[in-house]
Amino acid sequence: MDKNCIICRSNSYGFKVEHTTKLEMICLKCGTPYIKKFRGKQSINIKKELIPHIKNYWNDKKIYMGLATKSIRESHKGSDTGKKEFVEWLNKTGVLLEEL
Ligand SMILES: [Zn+2]
Repeated sequence: MDKNCIICRSNSYGFKVEHTTKLEMICLKCGTPYIKKFRGKQSINIKKELIPHIKNYWNDKKIYMGLATKSIRESHKGSDTGKKEFVEWLNKTGVLLEEL
């Protein structure tokens, strides 16, 4: 991929899932999901309002967050490791999630 992760600055992407018009992947260091549309730019694939919380969590704990999308979770076992801990932390900050 062509960019470093905006959360942890790594450029190691994995858990890739290819669709007809787009490619989904995850940063293997912090677990942030990305999407790249064919002939388009790579972008973070998560609700914009969560990004500051993801950054805070990463800066505080430096652990993988496992924020895999459904299609990535279904094809790559372990891609959502750490998500439970992240959601618990997030809930303590007062942010309630319906669905990540
Ligand atoms: Zn990352």
